[in-house]
Amino acid sequence: MEELKSCPVGTLYSEVNLQNHIFALELGEYGPADPRQPNTEFWQNKMKIWDVNEGTAIMRVCTSCHFADKTAEMQDCIIEGPGGEFKESDLPLNPVWAEIDGLPYYYCTRWNMTINPLRTCNGWQPEDWEPDEDEDEEHSKNYVEKALTYKPTTGMASAARRALKWKDEGRRGGTRVGLARANQLVRRENLSESTVLRMYSFFSRHAVDKQATGFSSGEEGFPSPGRVAWDLWGGDAGESWSKAKRDQIMRRRESK
Ligand code: SF4
Repeated sequence: MEELKSCPVGTLYSEVNLQNHIFALELGEYGPADPRQPNTEFWQNKMKIWDVNEGTAIMRVCTSCHFADKTAEMQDCIIEGPGGEFKESDLPLNPVWAEIDGLPYYYCTRWNMTINPLRTCNGWQPEDWEPDEDEDEEHSKNYVEKALTYKPTTGMASAARRALKWKDEGRRGGTRVGLARANQLVRRENLSESTVLRMYSFFSRHAVDKQATGFSSGEEGFPSPGRVAWDLWGGDAGESWSKAKRDQIMRRRESK
């Protein structure tokens, strides 16, 4: 792993690679799903955005883009790094995106993700493009930082929803911070690293509350104030999730 330290973040963490694909899709209309198809609508949209004719538009793919890193060093990072295990066919999309056998994955320095050479996005620039360096660096940093957020699971959202219902019914337990957290979890908002670490700390401090009567269903006094607070933070699902994410964050910080 030592030799991978200079590799970019999208090749080191599958989760970052996947998340940056989502940003590229949503913000840069990255695609198409299967570059071997005519994709008429996709290319007509690009012709409009770039104000070019069809012949010019279809030449504007990742392999001819200023931001595509095709170097041998980058190939090593992609092949050997855990982030390179992610494939675009893994994206949670319907229909599933096509993999095209025999084509190498490159790396996009604009979105910080691996790319299929035959796809493209609205941010395409010619290889000899001279960027405004400050702006470009800021742009890339932006997406990396956005990627380092963490989406709560549906199990955590269910626990938080249950706890909010208990609060509506007048049950004791939890604080205003817990209520705010529950609302974030129900909306499945992306959480920052510091929030994840606070969640981990909360569950570590309050694990002892699980021993009290009324914590588990069927016990007298259920749900106890401790159980209400526990579920406001995402319940057991939140405990195991925040521990896994905390370990991941620590590993990343230690590897810097
Ligand atoms: S910026 Fe360039 S290399 Fe990156 S996804 Fe868009 S077209 Fe591909």
